[in-house]
Order: sequence, then C-alpha cells, then structure tokens
Amino acid sequence: MKCRHCKAPLEHGLVDLGHQPPSNAYLSAADLEQPEVHAPLKVYVCTTCWLVQLPAHHAADTHFSADYAYFSSVSSSWVVHAEAYINAMVQRFGLVDDSFVVEVASNDGYLLQFARARGIRCLGIEPTASTAASAREKGIESLEEFFGEALGRRLAAERGPADLMAANNVLAHVPDIDDFVAGFREMLAPEGVATFEFPHLMKLIDGDQFDTIYHEHYSYLSLVTVERIFTTQGLRVFDVEELPTHGGSLRVFACRREAATHQRADRVDKLIAAETAAGLQTLAYYKRLQARADAVKLDLLAFLVEQRKAGRHVAAYGAAAKGNTLLNYAGVKPDLVEFACDAAPSKQGRFLPGSHIPVLAPEALKERRPDFVLILPWNIRAEIEAQHSYIAEWGGKFVVAVPQLEVL
Ligand SMILES: [Zn+2]
Repeated sequence: MKCRHCKAPLEHGLVDLGHQPPSNAYLSAADLEQPEVHAPLKVYVCTTCWLVQLPAHHAADTHFSADYAYFSSVSSSWVVHAEAYINAMVQRFGLVDDSFVVEVASNDGYLLQFARARGIRCLGIEPTASTAASAREKGIESLEEFFGEALGRRLAAERGPADLMAANNVLAHVPDIDDFVAGFREMLAPEGVATFEFPHLMKLIDGDQFDTIYHEHYSYLSLVTVERIFTTQGLRVFDVEELPTHGGSLRVFACRREAATHQRADRVDKLIAAETAAGLQTLAYYKRLQARADAVKLDLLAFLVEQRKAGRHVAAYGAAAKGNTLLNYAGVKPDLVEFACDAAPSKQGRFLPGSHIPVLAPEALKERRPDFVLILPWNIRAEIEAQHSYIAEWGGKFVVAVPQLEVL
C-alpha cells in the first residue's frame, strides 16, 4: 500500500479496529436477513509526509448512497456554528450582494441558508440526493456532484470564480485529497478565500478519540500535513483557528498561491510549532493509541456485563458514526445495549450497522426508563444531557465511554 498523497510505502499502523461495516450503513429489518459487508478499519501513518490515513476499500458512492441518513440541520448547535461562520466571513472578507459563496458538501443547506438570507449569491455542491433535495426546499441551488479539479474548473468557467468557498468536515472524507484540493485552486477568485474545517489529528491522539475513525473518514489531518498538500496543489495557508467542534477541530484559511492580500498570521506558525513539539513528525507519537483503544473497550464491556448480570437496562443515545466504531470494536450487541435513540427520523426504525441495535425515537427513553444511557456522540454530550435531564426522575444516569468510562 502507498500513501495517498506522497506515494511512499505505508509501513506503520496507527490503530487496528478490526473489520467493521460502513458506519453510516443503517439497516432495515429486511437487511438483517442478509449478509453484511465488513472491511478492515486499520489506520496507517506515512512516515514521509505524516498523513494518517485509511486505505480506501470501496468506491465513494457506495458509502454516500441516496438514502444516506445524516442531515446537518438535526444538530441545533451545528446550525448555530454555521450562522456564526457566515457572519464572521461576511465581516472579515467584506462579502456583499454580488459576492459568490460556494459550499462543498453543503448537505441540507444548514450553512448556505445564512448567506442566502443576506442576499448573497450561493451554490451548494452535495452528491447526496436526499440532503441536496432538502437544501433546494430552502431555496439553495445544489449540484449533485463530487467535487474535484475538473468540476472546479468547469464551474469557474460557467458561473465565475468564487469569493468564498467553505468545506466543513469533508476534507477528511475524500479518497483523492489532492484532486479535491486542486478543485479549490481552480474555482477561487484571484483573491478569494477557502476555509476547511476538519477534526485535528493532535486532538484525536491526545484525547484517545479512536472512535472518530470510520471508513468514510479517509484522512486524519495535522496542520503540517495539510499545508504540505495545499502547497503541492497551488494553495497557500494564511490563517488557522482552533475550534471546539468534533472534539477539537481546525479551521484552515487558504488562498491561491499568488494572492496578494492575505498575509500569513502568526498563529499558523505557532500551531505548526505546537504540533512539532508534541511529536507529530515522530513515529513514537502514534504508538499509544492502540493501547488506549483497548483500555476503553475493556472498561466499557466490563461495565455493560456488570449491568446485565445485575438485571439493569442500558440504552444508547445518538446513532452517530463514532458510536458505531466504538460499539463494533467492542463487539457490543443488543443483549448489552438494548436500543439507541436518535432525533433523526431517517434513522428511526432502522438498526445500527454491525451491532444491529434498534434505533428508536428519543421518546423511547420515557417509555422504557433505562437505568443507564450511554452517550455515543460525546462531542455534543452537554446538549444531550440538557435535553434529556428527565431521566433522573427514575434514577437514570448518563454514561460516556471515551476517553474513559464515566458515569455522569
Ligand atoms: Zn505520505
């Protein structure tokens, strides 16, 4: 196997989470009667460019099929984040009515709706039919295509260059990261700005967030490696912000290499220095994650087995990708976690991939009164605790498993 960026041989594993099904492949009752596809969930680190990566085992379109169930607008905190982003970009870069804003992986229009509300011309690019249709209902034009160099060039010719391009939680999800980044170079105006948000690799490893690894997530990114890839594709990083989203994310600001107006901020070099000091360019840094993942798995299983033997009931909250990685790595089935609740109607009535735990509406908590509720998307733990604090009425308690088992 070769590195997807620099083509050096991949010789060092970061973590091996066994064979798992695609984490967003929610199943129907009829699907449970059929075989289920599993692929290795083994992450490698390239010791030449330090890109941490999961080799692609399927074509992208098998993961993001038409009934792909994730709608960004379901998370109220994420919509608030999107509105704050548009406000900040309008102010900082002086966007006006005839500016052109493009979002790649625009989902259901959760972000572009705030640009449109300001009268700014916008375009969404979203290969998933169900979410693109939802964006159109908000009045946002959405192209159902995969973004890359060829599409960026074509759209710049057909629609004119973009003043602002947003790419939130998609850079890590594209199999051909170089071609994807080249599309921004092709589509940006000479002084245009592209921003990319992605989970920060340093936070993943320092926080033992191994459950953020799943098949749809091909690259695990540091600023050092992102800058290296961008430079290769004719883009220049000029600023970076650290965000609390998804357990700790980066928002990288980039422009075309030859752009004149965007000066490099001090915090770019400060963060690169912090990554270097932490050891992100040394193999030793990557060697701790497997042992931490194993410890989380054993502690979770011990807890679940103890409750089962005592006749207590455990449910989960949040049918998110990271929950599936954890449950499937630990081998948890419905005998240990009886059901999972999720607010997204598209997931209700289905079953989690691999574990086959049924997904129910949140109201099931009140009906079935479990003793413990395991919060799977720990990044929105406070939001879930606040919305469902009523479980205390019957003595219910929340639990998280990552980075360590904790009864709240
Ligand atoms: Zn490499």
